[in-house]
Amino acid sequence: MPLRRPTIFLARSTLGLGLWALASSPGLAAEAPAVPVPPPLPPERPSELKPAQPAEQKPAPTSEPAMPTPPVRPAELTTPAKDPAPEAQKPEIPTPPPTPPERPAELSGEAALALKVAPPDDTACRARLRRLGVAFEPLPAIAEGQCTAPLPLKVTKLADDIALPGGATLTCQVAESFARWATEVQVVADRTLKHPLTGLDLGGTYVCRGQNHDVDAKLSEHAFAAAVDVMGFAFAGHPSIAVKAMPAGSEEEEFLTSVRGKACGFFRTVLGPGSNAAHANHFHLDDRERNAGHRLCE
Ligand SMILES: [Zn+2]
Repeated sequence: MPLRRPTIFLARSTLGLGLWALASSPGLAAEAPAVPVPPPLPPERPSELKPAQPAEQKPAPTSEPAMPTPPVRPAELTTPAKDPAPEAQKPEIPTPPPTPPERPAELSGEAALALKVAPPDDTACRARLRRLGVAFEPLPAIAEGQCTAPLPLKVTKLADDIALPGGATLTCQVAESFARWATEVQVVADRTLKHPLTGLDLGGTYVCRGQNHDVDAKLSEHAFAAAVDVMGFAFAGHPSIAVKAMPAGSEEEEFLTSVRGKACGFFRTVLGPGSNAAHANHFHLDDRERNAGHRLCE
């Protein structure tokens, strides 16, 4: 019976078409009893593909991820918390500056003023100058910034009419040392040159300047009318002798060496040729005091 199978297939197809015609025709649907067609259920999804059930409502993530908590600082590095309240309530009382220690009486008030104004008493020194035969006259006090001389003298002649062309502006103390040294120079001139000293050529006495004309250096003794630069010596009947390096063994060298050595008995500072380049052509004489009575006699 080879023909039965196609028949069954045809009958199945016809039934299917008829059902489709019933469902899609509204006219027929009203007359025919409604055959409920349940919607096909979707196949069960495998469990591993099922969406996880939200266990609980999580908070929405914030825009910034949470920062890790910083480690606790050790107590000794922690600034003590300020209590702003008492600070703000503090009244503004200015702290008075510390009281300076009492000044000694002699440096206070009128005593200090007198100390500053009253120059040292030169009466005795001036009397000694006159006895030495020095011609001088007082000058007004010098005050040029740090260059000062409260009682300068204009010295015009030394003993035995030794001339000082242009004069010398000196303190009485230095003028006295200078005059005493000049009497020694006179003795040396008589002994070595056999001619009397008649004058001293000076390079400068009072000059407001630093040492060696250096503006940054410590003030020279010249700035206090306390130094003399001697450039040369004049004699009667003998050529003048300028201060400079002289040929060894010459009478000029003997004279200069001798008077230079004598100067060290009257001045704490004696510089000249050989000391340094700045003193190659003159003797610098001053009486600056140094620590422990040190002298600079070169
Ligand atoms: Zn000098």
